[in-house]
Amino acid sequence: MPDNFRRFVFNRRMLPKPADYYASEGLRLLGRGAWRDALCPFHPDTNPSMRVHIDKGAFRCMVCGAHGGDVLAFHMKSHGLRFTEAAKSLGAWLPAP
Ligand SMILES: [Zn+2]
Repeated sequence: MPDNFRRFVFNRRMLPKPADYYASEGLRLLGRGAWRDALCPFHPDTNPSMRVHIDKGAFRCMVCGAHGGDVLAFHMKSHGLRFTEAAKSLGAWLPAP
C-alpha cells in the first residue's frame, strides 16, 4: 500500500534511550542519580544549568526555563520540528499495526 494511504502512529517505546539520545546530540551529562547536569543548548551556558532526567529524558534549564518531558520534546525544540517530524526523525513514527 502506498505510504499516503497508510496510517502512522507515534510509538513512544521506539524513542531512543535518553542517555544515548543526549550523547548523540552532543550533551555531556554530568553527575549521578536520576537528574544529571548538562550545559544548556538553549542559551549561552558556561556552568551546567540544565537538569536532565536519565530515565524519562525530561529536561529543565534553571536559567532560561527551557523544559520538556522527554527526548521528543527536546528534539522538537532544539531542531525546530513539529511533533510528527521529530517523531519520524527519532524513528518513533511507524505504520499502524
Ligand atoms: Zn538554558
